[in-house]
Amino acid sequence: MRTNSLQSKDIAHQIHPATNLRRHERVGPIVIDRGSGIYVYDDEGREYIEGLAGLWSVGVGFGEKRLVEAATRQMAKLPYYHIFAHKTHEPSTLLAEKLVSMAPANLKHVFFTSSGGEANDSAIKFVWYYNNALGRTDKKKFIARQGAYHGITIAAGSLTGLQANQRGFDLPLPFAKHLTCPHYYRFGLPGESEEAFTERLAKELEDLILSEGPDTVAAFIGEPLMGAGGVIVPPVNYWQRIQEVCRKYDVLVIADEVINGFGRLGTLFGCDTFGIRPDILVCSKQITSSYQPLAAVLISDEMYQAMADQSDRLGTFGHGYTASAHPVATAVALENLAIIEERNLVANAAEVGAHLHAGLSRFADHPLVGEVRGRGLIAAVELVADKATKARFDPVGKVGLKFFDRAHQHGLIIRNVGDSIAICPPMIITAAQVDELLKRFKATLDDITDWVN
Ligand code: PLP
Repeated sequence: MRTNSLQSKDIAHQIHPATNLRRHERVGPIVIDRGSGIYVYDDEGREYIEGLAGLWSVGVGFGEKRLVEAATRQMAKLPYYHIFAHKTHEPSTLLAEKLVSMAPANLKHVFFTSSGGEANDSAIKFVWYYNNALGRTDKKKFIARQGAYHGITIAAGSLTGLQANQRGFDLPLPFAKHLTCPHYYRFGLPGESEEAFTERLAKELEDLILSEGPDTVAAFIGEPLMGAGGVIVPPVNYWQRIQEVCRKYDVLVIADEVINGFGRLGTLFGCDTFGIRPDILVCSKQITSSYQPLAAVLISDEMYQAMADQSDRLGTFGHGYTASAHPVATAVALENLAIIEERNLVANAAEVGAHLHAGLSRFADHPLVGEVRGRGLIAAVELVADKATKARFDPVGKVGLKFFDRAHQHGLIIRNVGDSIAICPPMIITAAQVDELLKRFKATLDDITDWVN
């Protein structure tokens, strides 16, 4: 590595998220220089299929000029303004109206943040504020699942159920409780049907609510389909049963749609795929295709009315960020959602997603492949040491990391979650491009098979 190169400056000064910092010093960064459609290019001109759409987020692909123009127009007109203290502006107002028209019918009010973590922190605070408003001052605990990802801020990071995000950080805080990850392949018991697995998880939820005390449990939060935890499709009837238990004990249901939202599963929201009627919906990522940082918390009118009364009693609703409802971010979101509609990208995710799953299912018989799973344009292939016993590699993640590294050599960017290989390409991907992605995936799998054996 040349001294004074971008790589050496990076190693000297940048702290990288979700990275082994010492390994980064040894292996150095790949400098991603530009992007076009489903491809990105490094500074030496090498092409990669962005098989994870950045961080599960660049729905409309790279280099979309309409988003650049929308940002430029808004920058020129009003580059910044806030909506504190009775101000407002056009783009965030129109976006709030648009989101309400898209979301499940009971969600009527929108609060904007810049990231999914801030949005989930806001959702937690809204629930606390709401329960305080109703005089339910003990009803504050949250239930999440192992394997969940809800962000890394102190509160949202407590709801996350991944050791990698909590070990060494003194998380989770005690208000967060975690249930079994709803992954039938991994956590279904020998001889247990998928339906029986769902019933066991519903009972686990009910038992936890009863043992903690229903008056202390405020909300259940879940991604309709778990993303960063390894693309976990819930078992049959899971969300119906979870919602029944929550309603029985007056526990709010929060859908974290940060990855699922805006078409990823082949429906507008994951809630539509799984029949969820949440009290709160959190979305981000594909809201702007990550061209701008933006997230939104949508809440029911019932919650809003109680919160509004409480703010009247207390004198203000004392919550908000400098960049809440940022005009450039919200203008980009409006244009991005228009593109998703005009180009039928939700239907594309369903159709081309089916093609992706058909292609990936051809690897199901491979001796290293334990499970192929997903929905729409999100999938994972779990690699195992022993197909018959489902035994994991030791240590977990070593083979996945090798796959991640080696895929670059075949012009493919994926994400390894342990030894599960996650795929989540831009939603503009075509069937022919999926075939190319699968070719590069197979070349990598062939390499890994040689390496393991
Ligand atoms: N929730 C889910 C489901 C996510 O996948 C993520 C990020 O990947 C977050 C929340 C946190 O979002 P952010 O990284 O913008 O804080």
